[in-house]
Amino acid sequence: MKIVLQNLTKTFPSRNKKNRADVIAVNDCTFEIPDGRLIGLLGPSGCGKSTTLNLICGLLKPTSGKIYFGDDDVTTLAPEHRGVGLVFQNYALYPHMTVKQNIIFPLENLKGEKKLTKQQMEEHALETAKLVQIEELMERRPSELSGGQQQRVAIARALVKMPRVLLLDEPLSNLDARLRLQTREELRRIQKETGITTIFVTHDQDEAMSISDMIVVMNEGVVQQIGKPQDVYDNPVNLFVARFLGTPPINVFEGKIYGNTLYIGENAVLTTQGLSDMDVYVGIRPEGFIPEENGPFVCRLNRVEVTGRDSSVISTHTCSLNGTIRSIINSDCVINTETDTVRFSLKPHKVCLFHKETKERIYFSGNESTQRRQ
Ligand code: ATP
Repeated sequence: MKIVLQNLTKTFPSRNKKNRADVIAVNDCTFEIPDGRLIGLLGPSGCGKSTTLNLICGLLKPTSGKIYFGDDDVTTLAPEHRGVGLVFQNYALYPHMTVKQNIIFPLENLKGEKKLTKQQMEEHALETAKLVQIEELMERRPSELSGGQQQRVAIARALVKMPRVLLLDEPLSNLDARLRLQTREELRRIQKETGITTIFVTHDQDEAMSISDMIVVMNEGVVQQIGKPQDVYDNPVNLFVARFLGTPPINVFEGKIYGNTLYIGENAVLTTQGLSDMDVYVGIRPEGFIPEENGPFVCRLNRVEVTGRDSSVISTHTCSLNGTIRSIINSDCVINTETDTVRFSLKPHKVCLFHKETKERIYFSGNESTQRRQ
């Protein structure tokens, strides 16, 4: 089921006596989610992710704008008629019911021609339990399950009615790191097997990047960028997206274009044909540095951390906006740690320039491999 959000806005009245301005939780969002895809809705706390999800499922009414499921305008449709399955961070299972009863519960409310017999309900519940691999746990109560198992029950309960759309709000937040990793792979498998269009809200960029077909990055209620995770990582449209995606984060510097050359401080680090002279922010991905004896970018060396396949070179530069510069290089590459400085040349396609005022991306010739992907 394709989902279309058209100029969607949601404001909440301010409860702040000093500041009466409404809170704009979602601000004129327009995007399309293709049928059968898993979408990661990503952004910092308070950026409007949960509000967007609640608008899609109908728990909130938009202040303006439209929501379509396929060709149907569902903007004013009650949540129970939208065919949406919801999974929350806290699972929200009924503690006095067994796993089976929890999964069957949504089927008991079906009316008219959708009404099922007890046997049909049990069959559906078992099928769904098998899909999320909890069929052995059907007679237990939620208190007798681990966090990961409870989360599977919540997913089964959301899936049992075969929803048109599955919405997951921070579904893995309560799990420990190992289980989180395992459960996100499971989610991906279940989504692929069912083919249900799924929206997954998280503030964890690694999580969103690893399992999503597409990510939507939001900030302050506004959609910043939509695309395949790797494309958004390679081609951030502004400084916010560049900084939000990537672990370790992108290294940001104050820089200057002068005479078709990019300077960071005194260092002429790259040729940038076709740009007029101006001050810029320079973002360099950690993998964009090449250590070279006579490299043009001269940094003060702090230390080298070897982490198996890769090494991290930790250095500083007076123009750096990050506390330290973290560059990731192949661990075969030898860095002389006896000296105070480390010199780099830069991979042009790993360097992003941003406008000093607007913080929007500036493309330059030599940045081609980045541009080509757009
Ligand atoms: P988090 O990751 O912390 O859950 P989020 O990205 O999901 O954050 P939302 O919960 O959608 O963010 O909130 C977006 C903005 O709207 C925030 O500023 C929040 O304080 C505000 N907000 C959300 N719900 C309400 C409400 N019912 N009344 C007033 N303001 C609200």
